[in-house]
Amino acid sequence: MVRRHVSEIGRAVLDCVTVRRCVACGELGMELCAPCARLLDERRAPWCDRCGAPLAPGARCTANHRWMRNITIARAPFRYAGTAGALVRRLKFESDRGAGTMLAAKMAAAMRVWAHRDGRRAVVVAVPLHARKRRGRPIDQAAFLAREVAGRLGLTFADHALRRVRATLPQGDPRVTSRDRNVEGAFRVRRPERLRGRVVLLVDDVTTSGATARECARTILRGPGGARSVALVTACVARG
Ligand SMILES: [Zn+2]
Ligand SMILES: [Zn+2]
Repeated sequence: MVRRHVSEIGRAVLDCVTVRRCVACGELGMELCAPCARLLDERRAPWCDRCGAPLAPGARCTANHRWMRNITIARAPFRYAGTAGALVRRLKFESDRGAGTMLAAKMAAAMRVWAHRDGRRAVVVAVPLHARKRRGRPIDQAAFLAREVAGRLGLTFADHALRRVRATLPQGDPRVTSRDRNVEGAFRVRRPERLRGRVVLLVDDVTTSGATARECARTILRGPGGARSVALVTACVARG
């Protein structure tokens, strides 16, 4: 009797460990169910070397690279529309590490060539969350992705390398008329000695206009004690 009881508990525990759920919608079954996999909008190589936009083989990028001021190269394996956006939201609002891990694996893959060349000794830095937002959320999604990407590429993660020094409106807020002005001077480097003269890989969940990443890069590079260069990887782009 006792033994049967124990084996039932054992089975229940085993079920919890082995039952797979779709990381995007929670449906039982595969790691990513068929409908979610169909709606995963992946930006596949070949990419533009500079901005990471997918190109036809042999084609030249016609995108405007002005948004990349202070950023050497940018990569994002997914478009925000569809399943990748759902994965970002699951990571952000439900602290779903499975969703985050799936995004980070593709982000690391997109940076692998760079990490073997220019980024060999790069330091990984996350775009900081608002202190106010941080309090309400169990997970800092950019820091989670940065740590995962660093681990997969064998790079150092500089935790809390940047901090917000003033409150900004969310970039998507209708009151924001200039995304650049909204984040201007909003960040500071903590312990600059960790970044001085280094190649930095900046990590965030989503880029839209790129204004936040640009301002973070400017802050990281600023002054004689600044970093050498900044590359950017995000899970998704919300445009193009
Ligand atoms: Zn699904
Ligand atoms: Zn390009």
